[in-house]
Amino acid sequence: MKVNRIEIFDIYCPERSVWHPVFVRIHTDEGLSGVGEAGLAYDLGHSAAAAMIKEFAEEMLIGWDPMQTEKLWSRMFRESFWALGGGPVVYSAMSAIDTALWDIRGKALGIPVYQLLGGKVNHKLRTYASQLQFDWDLKERKKLTDPKDYAKATEKAVAEGYDSIKVDPMMFDKEGNTIFDCTKLFRTEHLNLIRKRLQAIREVLGENGDIIFECHSLPGVASALQLGQIAEEFNCFYFEEPVNYLNSKLHRPLREKLKIPLAAGERLYLRHGIREYLEDQTVDILQPDIGLCGGLTEAKKICDYADMYDVQIQAHVCGGPVATMVALHLETAIPNFLIHEHHTYAIKSWNRELCLQDPQPVNGYFTVSEAPGLGIELNDEVVKRSPHIEIKK
Ligand code: MG
Repeated sequence: MKVNRIEIFDIYCPERSVWHPVFVRIHTDEGLSGVGEAGLAYDLGHSAAAAMIKEFAEEMLIGWDPMQTEKLWSRMFRESFWALGGGPVVYSAMSAIDTALWDIRGKALGIPVYQLLGGKVNHKLRTYASQLQFDWDLKERKKLTDPKDYAKATEKAVAEGYDSIKVDPMMFDKEGNTIFDCTKLFRTEHLNLIRKRLQAIREVLGENGDIIFECHSLPGVASALQLGQIAEEFNCFYFEEPVNYLNSKLHRPLREKLKIPLAAGERLYLRHGIREYLEDQTVDILQPDIGLCGGLTEAKKICDYADMYDVQIQAHVCGGPVATMVALHLETAIPNFLIHEHHTYAIKSWNRELCLQDPQPVNGYFTVSEAPGLGIELNDEVVKRSPHIEIKK
C-alpha cells in the first residue's frame, strides 16, 4: 500500500471567522483514506500549519507505505531541519499527518484505533464542559461578566449531565473587556469579582461537583498565586496553566506555595518538552494536545512517560470533531486517563457540521467509536467550501 494523494483543508467558518481547523486526508493506492487535524484551530497560525503539511506531503509522504508510522514520524522529525528545534507549526503538521496514518492503519486492519494503542482500559470517559466564561450555548459564544450568568451557564451544563466544568473566571472584566496582560497583580475589586463568579458556579454545581480553574498561561508568578489561593478557597479540582512555559522555573514557587493540583501541557511538544516538568514534579495533570504534541505516535509515549511520575492525563481538545475523536481513542487506551475536555466550541453547529459523525457525550460521559480506524470522516459538502488543495503523485 502506498500514499498516492493528500488533501489539505484550511477551514473557514462564516459564522465564526476566527475558527480554522486544519484537516489532512491521506489517500492510498488501495482506496483507503485517513484523516488528521492540526491543533491550531483557534487564534493565529492555522495557515502556517496547512502550508507545513503541504511541504511534508510533497517531500516525505507521496509513494510511502502509510503503515510505517514510526519511520515516517522519524523522517519528518529528522529530515525537515526545523523539527529538531520545535514549535507549533512543524509539530502540528507532523501531528495531523501522523494521526491520519493511524486512521489508515486501523481501517487496513479492520479495528478501531484504540485497539492499536493497547485496547480498552476505560469504557466510559468522564467529560467536563469547558470554558464556561463563553457560556454553554449551542449557538452563541458570549463574554460572561455577571456572576448570575456564570450560574446560568453552569445550569445548562448540569442539565446535560455534566458534574464538572472548566472556567477562566478572570478573562473578562466587569465591562466584558478581555484581560490579556495578567502578569500584573490583580486589584482587590477584580479578585472579588472572580470569587463571586466561582461562588455562583459552586452553588449550582454543588459541593461534590468539580471546577477546573483555567488561567491560559497568562498570569505571572505573583498574580498566579493570587488566583491559586482563590482556586483553593473554592476547592477547585485543579489549577490549569497558571504561568507560561518559556521559563519552566516559574512553576516551582506555585508548587511550593499552593496545595491545589497543577495542570499544564497544551503548549508543550514531544516527550522532550514535558521532561523537565515531570522530573521537577511541578505538574500533576498533563494536557497534551494530540494535534500539537507529535500525533498519536508521540502522544502515547508521552502518556506512558507521564505515568512513570504518577501524572494523570487530560488531553487538551479545542478543535474540530477529528480532534475530539482522536483524543477519545487515546484516552480509552491509557491507564492514567483522568477526564475528557469538551469545549464550548465543540457543541456549536459550525464546528459539528465539519464531519459526518458528531461526537458528543451523553450524560457527561463519552464512549469511543467502534468503527475501524478513528471512526470520523470529513463532511465534503461542508469542508470543500473552504480553501483546500490536493497533492498527487
Ligand atoms: Mg487550557
